[in-house]
Amino acid sequence: MDMLTVCLPDNVIDHIVVVPIGTSNDAYDKIIWKLSSNGSFNVKSAYACSISASSLPDCFWKGIWALKIPPKLKLFSWTMVQGRLLTNVQRFRRKLTVDPSCKFCPGVPESMVHLLRDCPHAQLVWNAVNVPQSMQQTFNLDWNGWISANTLQANCKWHSFVWKDFFIFICWFIWKWRNKGVFDVQFIWPTNPLEVILNYASEWFSVSKVDNNPSEKRPALLHWQKPLPGVFKLNVDGSRTHQGIIGAGWCYQESHW
Ligand SMILES: [Zn+2]
Repeated sequence: MDMLTVCLPDNVIDHIVVVPIGTSNDAYDKIIWKLSSNGSFNVKSAYACSISASSLPDCFWKGIWALKIPPKLKLFSWTMVQGRLLTNVQRFRRKLTVDPSCKFCPGVPESMVHLLRDCPHAQLVWNAVNVPQSMQQTFNLDWNGWISANTLQANCKWHSFVWKDFFIFICWFIWKWRNKGVFDVQFIWPTNPLEVILNYASEWFSVSKVDNNPSEKRPALLHWQKPLPGVFKLNVDGSRTHQGIIGAGWCYQESHW
């Protein structure tokens, strides 16, 4: 009891002490998962719980996993559509901050829809994108309506992209830039956001293109092959960090290796 008074407030201790103590000696306390019949955690029941807690239709959730986007953006979109990105409104609810306002818009709560759509910084991005006409009216909808309309519409195109895929890229960049704007004092919002998003998305789609014609598939070269006699081979590789640090290496070999 003394230990409880050190760690917990009085009202919580009151709740604890009124719980009757079991009389059976062979029943031990254990942690159980109440959503399964045997008390053990399983992903299926957790997934069903998260779906049922949402007001979005089932097809929406299936649509998320079918998007042709990088895995990390799928995870981002999953968190986003559940409204669980740590906006200041969310942080305020969890008592992580005393101010739910947008850092860039004093006095305006930083909700999901504000951060990703209505904040002036987000607006600059959407204006640069030139949203398809059929989607423009969705920008007056509430959060669920806006998200559903822009991620379920399979036939809407934006240049060579499927709009619902490109939409997630845009949201992800807005979230990323918002975080940099909040946590990095030297960060400057890009003057040409569309170019940045377009380059990233184009690169992703070009390398992830699926070849649907098996007859045209070529075997991938998975091991090094020595060059022909009299020929030299130079293998190179390189990488670059976000801080601009560049590393490179090369290997120069001839046929007798
Ligand atoms: Zn704002």
